[in-house]
Amino acid sequence: MLRQVIVTAMLAVPSLLPAQARPQSVVSGAVPSGAASSAAARVPNELGRFPIVEWHQVVAADGTYKVSRERFRAELRELHARGYVPVNLSELLDKTMNVPAGKTPVLFTFDDASPSQFRYIERSGTLVVDPTSAVGMLLDFIKAHPDWKPKGLFCALPAAEAGHAFFGDKGIDGQKTEWRFPKLRFLVQQGFELCNHTLWHAKLSKYSDAVVQEQLARAAMAIDSAVPGYTVRGLALPYGLWPKNRALAFNGAWYDKKSKRDVRYRHEAVFEVSGGPARSPHDPSFNPKSLPRVPLQGGTKLSNTLDQMDKPGTWARYVSDGNPNTVAKP
Ligand SMILES: [Zn+2]
Repeated sequence: MLRQVIVTAMLAVPSLLPAQARPQSVVSGAVPSGAASSAAARVPNELGRFPIVEWHQVVAADGTYKVSRERFRAELRELHARGYVPVNLSELLDKTMNVPAGKTPVLFTFDDASPSQFRYIERSGTLVVDPTSAVGMLLDFIKAHPDWKPKGLFCALPAAEAGHAFFGDKGIDGQKTEWRFPKLRFLVQQGFELCNHTLWHAKLSKYSDAVVQEQLARAAMAIDSAVPGYTVRGLALPYGLWPKNRALAFNGAWYDKKSKRDVRYRHEAVFEVSGGPARSPHDPSFNPKSLPRVPLQGGTKLSNTLDQMDKPGTWARYVSDGNPNTVAKP
């Protein structure tokens, strides 16, 4: 069986950022979050950049591919205070984002499907979302800030070990194997979206074309088993590694002997692991086939990226004009 233990030894993210794309260090004594500019003061610019933020584990303390729960809450507060509004991948791809005037879209991405992102607690036979898991914290935040809706992308692994199997199995972190599919259905019912992250976090660069397609098709098939008919439109590349045959990241098929049919997948969007804020979908250079992200973990700071986006220049932020039918140009 193809299986591997998920370890956190992914590529050192900061080294992947080209020097010129690295955010400048923040001036000390910077203005508090949200004070930099108010929605009314921002000039609409729907060709500007927006962040695709990337979280992995949300746990007790910051670390490599980990943020603390306090930090996760603080990052939600900061994004809200600075005028960011969550959108879904489908809205980006379909160019149907409807963001209020003066605000900026943000796409949340959650990689690796750990229980730290979505834990259930059983209370007298009923499953409740653990309020200390990322989904619990995010839903509580949205309840308190109704201008945000449950939107964001979960790049899930169906069959990785160490509990990284659709948010936990085999009793790891108190999570029962039979809760995996209900968790995916819950996310979709709430309004979140699901994306492919391979079957068990395979380094796609080191496998044959056949294995690459098996990894991606079986992951899509597992999501379909949990949420029948669900169309997966995005792929987050584990470790940011492309298959040797890049085209297979977008399209492919694998023959399932059990059901005697070809399982096909088609990804319109592929996410890298870093690279800074993304181009607007209205920018002619928008390339959904290589979407940069803003990784959040120990050693990185969301405010550095957001400060940079509040300045004029290549990272200047997308600011909505409030009218989904027009594209405001600076
Ligand atoms: Zn990953």
